[in-house]
Amino acid sequence: MPELPEVETVRSQLARPLAGRFIRGVTVLWSRTLGATGGERFAEHLVGARIGTAQRHGKLLLFPLQRGQKDAGVFHAHLRMTGRFLVRECGATTGLWDRVLVHLDGDEELVFLDVRKFGRLGIASSCAKAIETLGPDAWHAALDGAALATLLGGRRTALKSTLLDQSVLAGLGNIYVDESLHRAKLHPLRRAGSLADKECAKLAQVIHHVLERAISRSGSSFDAFYRTPEGKPGDFQSEFRVYGRHGKRCRGCPDTIRRAVLGQRGTWWCPSCQPSPRRSEMASARFRR
Ligand SMILES: [Zn+2]
Repeated sequence: MPELPEVETVRSQLARPLAGRFIRGVTVLWSRTLGATGGERFAEHLVGARIGTAQRHGKLLLFPLQRGQKDAGVFHAHLRMTGRFLVRECGATTGLWDRVLVHLDGDEELVFLDVRKFGRLGIASSCAKAIETLGPDAWHAALDGAALATLLGGRRTALKSTLLDQSVLAGLGNIYVDESLHRAKLHPLRRAGSLADKECAKLAQVIHHVLERAISRSGSSFDAFYRTPEGKPGDFQSEFRVYGRHGKRCRGCPDTIRRAVLGQRGTWWCPSCQPSPRRSEMASARFRR
């Protein structure tokens, strides 16, 4: 599943070719991609507008629209498992996985293709409206220790589950949470609200570091337009310390990486680098093996 680093790469690669483009029409090939919005409302919202600079919040891609000099809402995309975009010349043969075509000026079209059909496009009256149910973006520079302490403060849920909750913090998926917790030496079952200020500061710093590394690797390792629709993970996996390394030696100590299931998600950690919390700092959630 594309996580923040991959979505950020898609954003940066789409931003330039789409900025300022005029939308001439929309063709919907698979209506469920538009969810409750429906093809008619989606087309009405887009046709005749110009696209501004693509933005991203968490895993959500945002394309602001303008009519004349006025803001005219936004359309957004959640790639989910296999959603992809490409820009191609109009009149090309429709691909098997093409779901929605946005016809642009200059005889090109923006294609949303999606093998497994979980991806969703939608509309909103503004970027702020589109992201109103999401927490702050995990890669935003303002996410320092104090901001993280405020987000986690008072929460009784397990630290890992809290960081995965997009309404708390937007953008982190399973890989980057496990990788960040190992680098911050924090156990996934710590009660989120039990972190000291120093631990929040360290966690904020490693989240930023891990995402930055992954974004620079992701950007250099694939082409968001023309890679295969099956997708291919970025090259950051060579730097994984825990994710998917069950039974292998920890990269920070001689111990062995463990795996368990927490809230239906595979979870990897090192029992020495990330020792079990004291009873008073433990969430009530439990691992399943
Ligand atoms: Zn270790």
